[in-house]
Amino acid sequence: MNPIPTKMFINGQWREVAGGKPITLINPATEQPLAEVAGADVLAVGEAVASAHEAFLNGWRDLAPGKRAEILYNVARVIRENLEGLARLECGNIGKPISDARDEIGLGARVFEYYAGAISKFGGQTIPVARGGLDYTLRTPMGVVAAIVPWNFPFPIGCWKAAPALAAGNCVVLKPASLSPLTALRLGELACQAGLPAGVLQVLPGSGQAMGDALVTHPLVRKISFTGSTTVGSRIMELAARDIKRVSLELGGKSPNIVFADADWQRAAETSPMSVFANTGQDCCARSRMFVERAVYDRFVELFVAATKKLVVGDPTRPETQVGPLVSAGQRAAVEEYLADARALGRTVATGGGRPAGPGYYLEPAVLVDVETSDRCWREEIFGPVVCIRPFDDEKAMLQEVNDSPYGLSGSLWTNDLRRAVRVARQVESGVLSVNSHSSVHVEAPFGGFKQSGLGRDLGMSAMEGYTELKNIYVAE
Ligand code: NAP
Ligand code: MG
Repeated sequence: MNPIPTKMFINGQWREVAGGKPITLINPATEQPLAEVAGADVLAVGEAVASAHEAFLNGWRDLAPGKRAEILYNVARVIRENLEGLARLECGNIGKPISDARDEIGLGARVFEYYAGAISKFGGQTIPVARGGLDYTLRTPMGVVAAIVPWNFPFPIGCWKAAPALAAGNCVVLKPASLSPLTALRLGELACQAGLPAGVLQVLPGSGQAMGDALVTHPLVRKISFTGSTTVGSRIMELAARDIKRVSLELGGKSPNIVFADADWQRAAETSPMSVFANTGQDCCARSRMFVERAVYDRFVELFVAATKKLVVGDPTRPETQVGPLVSAGQRAAVEEYLADARALGRTVATGGGRPAGPGYYLEPAVLVDVETSDRCWREEIFGPVVCIRPFDDEKAMLQEVNDSPYGLSGSLWTNDLRRAVRVARQVESGVLSVNSHSSVHVEAPFGGFKQSGLGRDLGMSAMEGYTELKNIYVAE
């Protein structure tokens, strides 16, 4: 096995690309070049989709469900056997702290296990139609699914699209983000070693701008499953509309973290920094807008700032590191622009926001207070280590502010009043919400957004449904 995969993985083999522009990877913690990876061009897209389609027709679609499950269990096992190598690849590629990287590779393996198990529990219905006879439904696979994924959680998001799509009997062309192709490429190779037939999972690194349209509009691609920015998601949906292609979109977020004075607010203050600064804030679920009830606001901010200062920021290869560098120089510059904007408006940076000395795209986690609801920092997804905290007095007015956002992905709510928890949780416009916790992702439960945060759901049985067409068959008696 090559230490760093640098070619495309098509039809079970490593392949050079004739015409595509290579991608140069830089280790964000050291700013040193890491590798040069093939960038697929439009021709390579055609080849990958055609061979995925062939693999679909010539076996995968019709493989016995038990055999398909066995192969996917094997994929999970092989991922676990290679967990450390995959985690190190991710850490070097995007600066993800090694402890998080290990957890995320493990999560990818669990996703394959879950959908391997789901195959035998995923069926249709028999329906007592008025005219008698036998009416039943089938969940049929679609064909070739294009999975387009971002750089912030490359491995788990790749798995949570590929695994349910494969489990449902589709073949997949996985396009990783240009900044983070390595673990996706390794997954392609490992899945083949685990017994996945050649062509069933293709991995196509390359610039989305250069070859994204070709992939999305390819007539043999039946569904596009996308995670990334709202801008690109919207473009994909427009292109897909031409042929009524299926799409599922997991997009941006600006998630709230609501703390009532009756809550265990000390615990909320101590745990909330990692709900926004984990993955250096490059998290669609980051709780970047905090609403704290005024009675505890000052004490809460004090504790939150103290907890933020204790975070271990630095070298992602060290197991104790909690916050690594940003993914690229450009990403850090974009975050710094938001901070400059806040300073220009006279907002208080209670801690952080500076660059530590030395190489690497680091930025100290920043806490902004005294922000206004019209500020860009409050309204826009920053995708970096910045949180805004505001006090509130009234539940109803606070909820209006919470929902005054084009996004609606995730959120947290802290209260010990059960009736309030039920009432407020129902009214927050978001696809997922956690009460007295910051957890957003459960392999077994649906994950996705309201409003401009997306369409369709990843994970759980809902995702598997989304990779099938529902067919009704009637047999006369
Ligand atoms: P992005 O620019 O939208 O990129 C996502 C993926 O789309 C990448 O693979 C990218 O390839 C590709 N792409 C870019 N232009 C394309 C085009 N014209 N056609 C087809 N594909 C194209 O997003 P990002 O900057 O990587 O990620 C950050 C965003 O993702 C944030 O907004 C974040 O909230 C969102 N996100 C959402 C979730 C969720 O579950 N809701 C999870 C993670 C991230 P290249 O890398 O080659 O440009
Ligand atoms: Mg982008």
